[in-house]
Amino acid sequence: MQVHLPKAWLAFLPPGEEDPAQAGAVRFTITGGAQGLHLFCGPYEQRQFQGVHTYHLPGDAAWAQEVAQAATFGVERLTQWLGPRPLPDAQVVVLALPAGWGSQHLPGLIAQTSAEDGQARMAEVVHEVAHFWTPGRDANRFCDEAVAHYLEDLLVGERDGVTARVAAIAHRMRALGACPEAQRVPLAAAAGHAALETVSRQKGPLALCVLEYGIGRDGVLALLKSWIRSPDVDAADAGRFVRHAGEMLAGLGGFDGRSYLRDWFEAEADPPLDVEGDPEEALCRAASRYTGGQTMGRVKKCRP
Ligand SMILES: [Zn+2]
Repeated sequence: MQVHLPKAWLAFLPPGEEDPAQAGAVRFTITGGAQGLHLFCGPYEQRQFQGVHTYHLPGDAAWAQEVAQAATFGVERLTQWLGPRPLPDAQVVVLALPAGWGSQHLPGLIAQTSAEDGQARMAEVVHEVAHFWTPGRDANRFCDEAVAHYLEDLLVGERDGVTARVAAIAHRMRALGACPEAQRVPLAAAAGHAALETVSRQKGPLALCVLEYGIGRDGVLALLKSWIRSPDVDAADAGRFVRHAGEMLAGLGGFDGRSYLRDWFEAEADPPLDVEGDPEEALCRAASRYTGGQTMGRVKKCRP
């Protein structure tokens, strides 16, 4: 898998000086000085970029290269963890787009990032890369968003160290703690709920973190890998994920998968996680409910 950064795109031309022979080609230009890169080759039309995954990059050429490297890192690590991408034909193209376009994936992936903080921008890039592996958008947003956020945090930890991952988890716990309504929504029934975004982006990845503390990171990745490649995955609904996970967890000794899935995916109750507490201690305690006290946290403090 290559990340393409076409040379022509790094020709920094002032607005209005695009080469007519290259009409329609995508180029970077620097506008607004420190504001960074903006696309100026004409209006973005998604049909131009079918099957192409794109990123919006505020910044300069060096920054574009850094983002390309982050994307490459994400692709390589996820291929190692989850196998080849389900859509092997799509290229990853790094592209600057005007502000105002939302992030999306398939058929064109646009990671539009305006985060000031470099690490947050990188997290957004690897998040969108993670969507290469998530199945199509489901109504619950568990199968796409929750899984992508969990993978995003894993990649941040791999790239920037364990402290960065713990900080990302702490951020999710604070966000979930600030939304009592979202805490009570079962993951398998989040569709259409007013707190859907918080449920899928905070409670969902935290549920996978608790699972990680119970069965280990390799166990969670094995589950995701088998699920992504299962024939059921096309439908991409959380109910199918729960059934798939139930079958797999039932085969593991020492982890009460039935109770875990009930607490997080089915019960209309606060999740058994102290969202106000120290992230790692809270995850250890949450996981130990299903393991009889043994946990396999891979983040920092909680080890078997
Ligand atoms: Zn996403």
